[in-house]
Formats: sequence, structure tokens, C-alpha cells
Amino acid sequence: MTRLFFNPFTGKFFTIVARRRKPRRAPVNARVEQMRRQAKAELPPRLAALAKEHGFVYNRVFIKNNISNWGSCSSLGNINLNLRLVSLPQELQDYVMLHELCHLRYLNHGPEFHALLEQLCPHHRELKKQLRNYPLA
Ligand SMILES: [Zn+2]
Repeated sequence: MTRLFFNPFTGKFFTIVARRRKPRRAPVNARVEQMRRQAKAELPPRLAALAKEHGFVYNRVFIKNNISNWGSCSSLGNINLNLRLVSLPQELQDYVMLHELCHLRYLNHGPEFHALLEQLCPHHRELKKQLRNYPLA
């Protein structure tokens, strides 16, 4: 979400991309640790491959244990991926990663963002619907 602000000192408007609320962390147990190991082994190489294929450059990738999102992208170009992604079918993993990669160019969900995602992932609407079958919490 982008908000427009007015700076009275410069007389100019500026925009701020609103930060998402702090991710809620999930409890850790043996199953989570197993998924974390798998996620660390599998997700970064897949993200790197998708980024290379589509010409994206990100800063760092982090594997997160949270129950508030599947992935996120920061204004510093860092991509966070939920370790639970490894429990999803490959095409849903790819959808989440492509979605976050598109945020490297547009830190919002505006029309340009969706046009880019549509180009890279033509079935993204259907995949987004399928993702709802896999609740995070
Ligand atoms: Zn998004």
C-alpha cells in the first residue's frame, strides 16, 4: 500500500510504502526444524534460478518461521520466504517466489505489479486461489 504525504518544508508530496505489520512467529518443534532444513536447502537455489531466468537481482534471501505470510520483499531488496513453502506443490512455491520477485520492481500491488506478474506467471490468479487451501495458521 502506498500513501501520499505532504512535506510542508519542501512544499512537495512524497510517497511512503506502508510497512506490513510485524510478522507473527510460529512455535518451533521438530517438524518445523525439519522443514527449515529442507527450506534452506531448496528455496534459495529455486529463487536464484527464477530471478536469473527473469532478470531480477535481489539482495539477500531469508527463510522465516512465521504464520502471517508466505513471503515478503523489503525496500532493501531482501526477500523473505516462509519455511512452510516446502510443504506446497512446486507451482505454488514458484508463484509465491515470482510474486515476491515482482515486488523488487513494484513495492505495492498496483496495476503495474499485476501486469508484470501476469507476464511471468499467467495462471497467478488461479494459483492464488489454490494457495488458500493451505492455511498458514
Ligand atoms: Zn505482495
